[in-house]
Amino acid sequence: MKTILVTGGAGFIGSHTCVELLQNGYRICVVDNFCNSSPATLDAIHEITGKYFPSYNCDLIDEKALAQVFQEEKIDAVIHFAGLKAVGESVQKPTLYYRNNVTGTLNLLEQMEQNGVRRLVFSSSATVYGENNPIPYKEDMPTGQTTNPYGTTKAMIEQILRDLCQSDSRWSTMLLRYFNPIGAHPSGLIGEDPNGIPNNLMPYIMRVAQGTLPYLNIFGNDYPTKDGTGVRDYIHVCDLAVGHVKALNALFAQEGASVYNLGTGQGSSVLEVVKTFEQESGVPVPYQFAPRRAGDLPEYFADASKAMQELGWQAQFTLADMCRDSWNFIKMKSPSERELVAK
Ligand code: NAD
Ligand code: UDP
Repeated sequence: MKTILVTGGAGFIGSHTCVELLQNGYRICVVDNFCNSSPATLDAIHEITGKYFPSYNCDLIDEKALAQVFQEEKIDAVIHFAGLKAVGESVQKPTLYYRNNVTGTLNLLEQMEQNGVRRLVFSSSATVYGENNPIPYKEDMPTGQTTNPYGTTKAMIEQILRDLCQSDSRWSTMLLRYFNPIGAHPSGLIGEDPNGIPNNLMPYIMRVAQGTLPYLNIFGNDYPTKDGTGVRDYIHVCDLAVGHVKALNALFAQEGASVYNLGTGQGSSVLEVVKTFEQESGVPVPYQFAPRRAGDLPEYFADASKAMQELGWQAQFTLADMCRDSWNFIKMKSPSERELVAK
């Protein structure tokens, strides 16, 4: 049985991927410093899968602590989710983002090299396509015209990984470019619930539906899109998790660096997301139109054909599934709902 080190395994995408790995015959160990997650998520992964696994409260910046993990565990490959991801914060605190994301990755790669672990799956992002590419985005388009430090860390890490594979044929990496992950595990036990006022669309809609925020601001209704609001490729986090296991399986059989879009290939507007959420939940989401958000592109979505042809992966869940599961997770967080489910 192969052991996969999952950095950031307590986070939103990492936790769903841990479940998928455990359910597909992999052993895992998790490294997370819980700066944007909670150890309780690791208990929830155990509750869903019935499987125990080691975890380490460890910051990738802490080289000694990371070395200790590699001494204690016999690792076959790494899936690297750990990173900071708030675009606006990255503009305010660029050095924090470069240190955490880029230096953290370099520390990880050095430990991997020293311990002879040379297979890595990396969480990249559609943001690396920047502002100038036509849609849909294809993997062979130029990248790097990023518009904020967060996106630049992703483009830089992609380049570091390509250079590493070029320098030594024993290295093999998968660069997975996610589009807009939403949804939650159907159990309702893991999902996304950021601290503070959310920046992203679906967590914001959740707060409005819960009644903790009064209305949604829709940023722009004059874009050249189907209804004037921004269009994105929303993908269910459980589909993403399956994509990671497929990529990992392929990683053990490949050499060099490969890159795949993980998206559905379908664009949905903000208004379509709001309407679909209302239909699935039965809860109204009041909204008002607000000015465009600085840095937002009108529309983008994936060309998802490469992952289908080469990994045999295709997203299965619809936007309605994503809205239903996101809402189910939020409802399950309230104690009364949990008691009802337990009965
Ligand atoms: P998340 O914040 O929920 O998970 C990231 C996890 O990494 C958290 O548990 C956090 O505590 C941990 N972490 C951060 N810095 C660390 C460090 N230095 N050492 C150890 N642990 C650390 O985010 P997510 O949505 O699950 O995203 C996972 C990855 O996917 C990130 O790299 C993110 O940039 C990338 N990504 C996310 C999205 C998205 O919309 N969610 C889109 C594209 C790419
Ligand atoms: N959006 C919005 N109101 C919000 C948050 C987001 O109208 O409160 C829009 C945003 O302008 C974009 C889409 O929803 O068109 C997705 O934004 P999100 O921040 O979730 O992801 P992004 O694609 O920007 O990474």
